[in-house]
Amino acid sequence: MAVPKRKVSPSRRNMRRSHHALSRPAYNECGNCGELKAPHNVCPKCKHYDGREVLKEKKAT
Ligand SMILES: [Zn+2]
Repeated sequence: MAVPKRKVSPSRRNMRRSHHALSRPAYNECGNCGELKAPHNVCPKCKHYDGREVLKEKKAT
């Protein structure tokens, strides 16, 4: 198995990890009910998207 020749120094290790920070999750206010929701997703509370209701409850056929 290939093995690194030298131990990575704390400085090098930390430089590598400088890109590992997590960004905060995006959210928007719903235009209909004002609830916080994920952008480009139907509002989980009022089921509105782009100013109209979608995702009506399914009726048994
Ligand atoms: Zn809503």
